[in-house]
Amino acid sequence: MRIAFLVVGIISFLLLGAPVRAQQDFSEIEIETIPVVHGIYMLTGVGGNIGLSVGEDGPLLVDDQYAPLSEKIATAVAELSDMPISFVVNTHWHWDHSGGNENMRARGAVIVAHENTRRRMSTTQFVEALDRRQSPSPAGALPVVTIEEGVSIHWNGDEIRVFHVAAGHTDGDVVVQFVGANVIHAGDNYFNGRYPLVDFSSGGTLEGMIATVDAILEIADETTKIIPGHGQLSNRVELQVYRDMLATVSERITRMIDEGMDRDAVISAKPTSDLDEVWGQGFLGPSMWVGIIYDTLSTVH
Ligand SMILES: [Zn+2]
Repeated sequence: MRIAFLVVGIISFLLLGAPVRAQQDFSEIEIETIPVVHGIYMLTGVGGNIGLSVGEDGPLLVDDQYAPLSEKIATAVAELSDMPISFVVNTHWHWDHSGGNENMRARGAVIVAHENTRRRMSTTQFVEALDRRQSPSPAGALPVVTIEEGVSIHWNGDEIRVFHVAAGHTDGDVVVQFVGANVIHAGDNYFNGRYPLVDFSSGGTLEGMIATVDAILEIADETTKIIPGHGQLSNRVELQVYRDMLATVSERITRMIDEGMDRDAVISAKPTSDLDEVWGQGFLGPSMWVGIIYDTLSTVH
């Protein structure tokens, strides 16, 4: 299997003459377990932050990163519970959040996600913002329970609300609220301390991202712990700052589009220069991010 994959990789390299995405090496990656509140943890490795609930009914995960990390993730979970993983909730379809699904399902977990997440995982996707083509996931990786608006999972002594607000990061985003524990996993509508991807190829919109953040701000209070899709464990105050940054940039770039500036002119004008030091040091640098926001705003314009 691995050899076949390598051969395909070499052939496509030779045929296309284009650089093949280097196969990521996960061998050195360690999973870190960060306590959030009693019974809830955030696990980090590579890819989206994982939420974990443990208790009398069994472990429930929010997202599962990449397939090569499943064993390490299961080991980290086993440190906290001797029961098998019962559920995985996918916050959206992206590979760095759902890549472990097939392995987790093979271990007995029920995968829960928005219906658009299952739909996108079932077919080839092209994410224009990242110039990335993603093959369909194997049948065993697909969500088993799909939702359109929301569902509650009554598990580990808590009500775990899984709900969709709007097409923000993608059109299949869900927010996961641990009601009793007062913890929220925001998925990729919240990149803490860095510019977020708006995956407009997957139906995402900046307006929907802001609406989703507003819905989280609405249900959060000053003691709520917020797990972002990427970045450090957070809270309502930080999420509000992030929301204000999104709104500021949205306003600025909308105005420039209204003035008739094209994509290159908007990027050259550096409309985020005062924000870049704080937000532009992550996965998306300033020019790339401004380009993505231009694209998402101009398509709905
Ligand atoms: Zn994502």
